[in-house]
Amino acid sequence: MASSSHPCSSPLGSLPVGSERVSGSNMDVWTLFNQLTQKHEAVNLGQGFMGFPAPDFVKQAGSAAVLDESCTQYAPPRGKPELRAQLAKDYSAYLGRTIDPEQEVVVTAGGNEGLLCVFSAFMNPGDEAILMEPAFDQYIMNLKMIHGVPKFVPLRVKDGVDASRQIVSADDWVLDLDAVRAKITPRTKVLVLNTPHNPIGKVFTKEELEGIAEIAKEHNLLVLSDEVYDRLTYEGRPHVSIASLPGMWERTVVACSAGKALGVTGWRIGWMLGAPELITLCLRAHTRYVFTVNSPMQIGVTHALQYAHANGFFQKQQQEYLARRNRFLRAIDAVGLPYTVPHGSYFVLVNTSPIRIPDGYEFPPEIAQRDYCYKMCYFFTKEIGVTGIPPSEFYSEENAALGQNFIRFSFAKSDETLDQAGERLQKLKKFISA
Ligand code: PMP
Repeated sequence: MASSSHPCSSPLGSLPVGSERVSGSNMDVWTLFNQLTQKHEAVNLGQGFMGFPAPDFVKQAGSAAVLDESCTQYAPPRGKPELRAQLAKDYSAYLGRTIDPEQEVVVTAGGNEGLLCVFSAFMNPGDEAILMEPAFDQYIMNLKMIHGVPKFVPLRVKDGVDASRQIVSADDWVLDLDAVRAKITPRTKVLVLNTPHNPIGKVFTKEELEGIAEIAKEHNLLVLSDEVYDRLTYEGRPHVSIASLPGMWERTVVACSAGKALGVTGWRIGWMLGAPELITLCLRAHTRYVFTVNSPMQIGVTHALQYAHANGFFQKQQQEYLARRNRFLRAIDAVGLPYTVPHGSYFVLVNTSPIRIPDGYEFPPEIAQRDYCYKMCYFFTKEIGVTGIPPSEFYSEENAALGQNFIRFSFAKSDETLDQAGERLQKLKKFISA
């Protein structure tokens, strides 16, 4: 009989033990802050899902597809031909080359599944991937699933720019290419790029991408280009895909998301784009993970993309997000906190350095054991009534200090929610030291 002190024992005896892939003791940040949000009735600007209705034409395209008999059975593992044809058309224009829908596109269960497929297709256990911090937390979890090793290189605010005192531009966050080179070993297989960037809102310029491309070519790396926010750039900022640069199509897999592009994160549709040799390998991983993605939403996305082009939806959506961004930033201006102005995605990093949490402020045990930015986020949720996400989630332990004085807010929310959050945030003034 199992001893009662065994961590996996129960009154019924020993319980199965989880694998290393899913190990980890802390509650994940999303569950933790969603629970706290409910408890303290806070406005939730934490998780990045849309807090406003999806467009009617998108929902109508989805519901028609559910009723369409041709969508009731398995789609091919590569994806429904109609969607691949539409994506090939759209991205041929974007990437400046003719994309072959038969060989260069795979439909995935959201952008996230595409990321896991790429890691699985190009990395053996112990192989390394370069991540630029702050990095979307799923990269690390996905690497863990395949026993891959993340190697971190931080994006840093340029010398001479003080993010704790002044409003900075997402352009001010830069990558040190020598620091990337220093992390490369014979086991480095993949370099992960995210543009537009979550959480900084940085849209990498062509020149910046050229520098990264040189390194990838020099060291024969596969670039996983996470472009899930490709339709969400502001103020005329052009989104450039590294796959469009000379010599990069052969070594880049682009991961995208209909969830972000059309405002339907729950539909779980995304896609991978790349040269046939790369996509063949990704398809093998994809076929093992999900075999094939649900049929109706693929057709729903196909028709929604067609309508979106015909009715100027993407331009309108950009304008709406820009207005939401500015609405939120005006509220932060009124508080007097510094932040990074994002040019893409739908996140804002607010710098919390000027805020003083009162001495002796009490934290529950699940927060007390975490780092400073968790405590600051808890303070925001409980005291101010607005939830954000602690950016240390996006940093490795070695560089966690870089994220300590930031909090990430999502502005993919309704005007009412943003206004309510903005109003509550004004309460911060009394905690800001002169
Ligand atoms: N990459 C980044 C940078 C993201 O922020 C997200 C979603 N939060 C994804 C990938 C995953 O997208 P999807 O919801 O389509 O799986």
